[in-house]
Amino acid sequence: MKSNGILFIISAPSGSGKTTLISKLVDSIGGIGRSISMTTRSPRAGEIDGVDYIFIGKGEFLKRKKKGEFLEWAKVFDEYYGTPKKYIKHLVAKGQDVVLNIDVQGAMKIKRLKMKTVFIFILPPSIELLKERLVGRSTESKKVINERLKFVKKEMAYLSRYDYAVVNNKIEAALGHLRSIVIAERCKIRRG
Ligand code: 5GP
Repeated sequence: MKSNGILFIISAPSGSGKTTLISKLVDSIGGIGRSISMTTRSPRAGEIDGVDYIFIGKGEFLKRKKKGEFLEWAKVFDEYYGTPKKYIKHLVAKGQDVVLNIDVQGAMKIKRLKMKTVFIFILPPSIELLKERLVGRSTESKKVINERLKFVKKEMAYLSRYDYAVVNNKIEAALGHLRSIVIAERCKIRRG
């Protein structure tokens, strides 16, 4: 019988380059899928509904939350984000691994579930670089960028609750580390 897949929970301050890293990870290693979250925030330029996120209204999100449709959910910067439960459970039951790109609050909720999970925190090389990346992306206003940078400190306090830390200094090196983690976890005999 095929055993259940593993949930790889990846959290990182925004601007740490995790979205690119996760896409590269999923493209470069077989048997792993990416969870597509639902969110109430507006799409950024270039984002595609159903690919980057499933964009829904607040009313619909709250209705789905009430119905228990999310594996976890969180309110981040005044917008709701949630991981659809049904799809993830279906993939995991088939033996497929899944990557969840979620914030620290959501990650802590996943810790309470009885599932095979691995928690990975992606770190930016420095706060200065993080600021440069957020400014360079020019998708957020100055006010939002400052809010996000303040939030980084809060998020970093959760680092000790994660299993692995990967510094995203050079993307290829960070990708190599992520791939190694996935491979090692697949070979693991016992989980604590
Ligand atoms: P962004 O708006 O920059 O795409 O994401 C903001 C934050 O929300 C990031 O930390 C991202 O990981 C997190 N996030 C995205 N989807 C989910 C989700 O389904 N659940 C939770 N808890 N956080 C999410």
